[in-house]
Amino acid sequence: MAAGELEDQIIWVYGVLLEAGAITECQVHGYLFSELDDDAFEQAKKIARKNPWIGLSPDEAVAAVEDAFYDLGYECQGCAKNEAE
Ligand SMILES: [Zn+2]
Repeated sequence: MAAGELEDQIIWVYGVLLEAGAITECQVHGYLFSELDDDAFEQAKKIARKNPWIGLSPDEAVAAVEDAFYDLGYECQGCAKNEAE
């Protein structure tokens, strides 16, 4: 898989998570972070399963969404840094 395709896939994954409301973009810093919202996360997985990224099986699409979700923190990196200072 070419690097550009992987990037497109990641953009798709974040798009699904944003659409479901499982993640949020910080209005100040632009970092994405997880919402502690199981319903929204389940909704994101449903969207991914129903309409997987090109070349992914429904299960692979769900796994990609899970990976991206668990990789993100529960707080914007920029806001966390400001609090620490
Ligand atoms: Zn922030």
